[in-house]
Amino acid sequence: MTATVENPLHSGTTSVEGVAQERRLVTELPGPRSVELMARKQAAVAAGVGTTLPVFAARAGGGVLVDVDGNHLIDLGSGIAVTTVGNAAPRIVAAVQEQVAAFTHTCFMVTPYDGYVAVAEALNRLTPGDHEKRSALFNSGAEAVENAVKIARAHTKRQAVVVFDHAYHGRTNLTMAMTAKNMPYKHGFGPFASEVYRAPLSYPYRDGGLDGATAARRAITQIEAQVGADNLAAVVIEPVQGEGGFITPAEGFLPALAAWCRENGVVFVADEVQSGFARTGAMFASDHEGVVPDLIVTAKGIAGGLPLSAVTGRAEIMDAAHAGGLGGTYGGNPLACAAALAAIETIEADGLVARAQEIEALMKRRLGALQERDSRIGDVRGRGAMIAVELVKAGTDEPDPALTKAVAAAAHAQGVIVLTCGTYGNVLRFLPPLVIGDALLEEALDVLEGVFASLASA
Ligand code: PMP
Repeated sequence: MTATVENPLHSGTTSVEGVAQERRLVTELPGPRSVELMARKQAAVAAGVGTTLPVFAARAGGGVLVDVDGNHLIDLGSGIAVTTVGNAAPRIVAAVQEQVAAFTHTCFMVTPYDGYVAVAEALNRLTPGDHEKRSALFNSGAEAVENAVKIARAHTKRQAVVVFDHAYHGRTNLTMAMTAKNMPYKHGFGPFASEVYRAPLSYPYRDGGLDGATAARRAITQIEAQVGADNLAAVVIEPVQGEGGFITPAEGFLPALAAWCRENGVVFVADEVQSGFARTGAMFASDHEGVVPDLIVTAKGIAGGLPLSAVTGRAEIMDAAHAGGLGGTYGGNPLACAAALAAIETIEADGLVARAQEIEALMKRRLGALQERDSRIGDVRGRGAMIAVELVKAGTDEPDPALTKAVAAAAHAQGVIVLTCGTYGNVLRFLPPLVIGDALLEEALDVLEGVFASLASA
């Protein structure tokens, strides 16, 4: 199976970062080298660390990942929304190479360095709102969410935290409590942290199309009755939900919640770990409705693949924690900071926010057309390059996780990396790197169309 395409973002070349921009399978998937490595993985790596595709990566760039057998796969996953600027993006490679040769670590809390400060300045500039801000840097999304809660508690001197149905905030102890889904994230790992309360989300496809204001009123009524605003430190919400199924709340839901938080002295925290950094066709998903979070949590796309996360927010809230109360050995590692500055420069200089909007238009056009012909596609949704389809038993709204699994597996076998998500396991999600070319995207959608056609309707 061979397909050669041009990447319009790199006109005149079919190669990005030395990687041919084509889908090309030279073995069955997984190929023999991957099979061998998978056997070593099973013998050496804990079983709890799962694998979506049993193909081992050799290199990646643009919209393509090359495996150890030489297969070229179209990447619609970006390592779960991380390589937004592309894999091994040139500015990132150069910045990290320069930094790694200068120094690799000092611990910012021992002897600071300017990269950390520059990332904090960039976050303070780019995040919604023009109030005075501060940032603190960490390693993972979950760690940053935990720190946002610590900061909100220190500021409000209250303990309770409200999260939403279908939420995903991480796998550490506190964030497991905040995450909604039992399997695989929580099962058998309790007891969980206390003072975490769950409120109903706005889920337009499944709540009868409740308008945003009404859905917010429903959530607020429940919060007031079951928690009490006086006990509540923070409301934490993903402006577009990630693992929960790429659910975009109805218009008006987020602004109403933010306004209620403001009126009640509750810290409104946007978890933009998955939706941030140009992914949704705005720098942050909060921007779509002009929502200004008190604290915003970022990670993933912030540093082009190096581990970095952050909490950014109102100076008076961020500064509430005592000196030494926040931090960690590696938080804001110099290599990750160099990568983040290069990623931010790339997003701004290369117009990647606009590119995400183009990707949305292309994908919604193709997936919308497919939905018209196939009633197993219940919903097409998402923003920017964070698009999903929710799969149901034909003509009903009953979730179909088996079909979702089968579609993903068939796409994988044909060299297209897609991911699934959703509380019911029935959402196919697409998170292409923003540097992918249109031709590769179209080809990936051709493959998906073929997969739907070949899987008989249930
Ligand atoms: N919050 C959201 C919205 C996420 O999507 C994720 C990761 N999928 C996390 C938090 C946790 O991030 P990490 O895996 O880096 O800990």
